[in-house]
Amino acid sequence: MKKGEAVTKAEIISVLKKLRDEVEIRICTHEDTYRGGVIWEICSQCGDKWADDEGGRPENKLPSILDDADNLIKSLDSQKAIF
Ligand SMILES: [Zn+2]
Repeated sequence: MKKGEAVTKAEIISVLKKLRDEVEIRICTHEDTYRGGVIWEICSQCGDKWADDEGGRPENKLPSILDDADNLIKSLDSQKAIF
């Protein structure tokens, strides 16, 4: 993608996919945890920890903007987008 030139749909899709993947990689979903002491649950990957007496590990959700990006990519891919 060169500065000042019109962008193509393929370029938009490519950037959106890279951006989505980059965000996904950087968000820990805390899938691998271990017990630390009596009350702590600790994430092996990022080190976040949660105390059982404060509600424990919260349900982990990826931000909805990732779904928005996926939908946008699908729309662009399927030619539903209007330019
Ligand atoms: Zn984590």
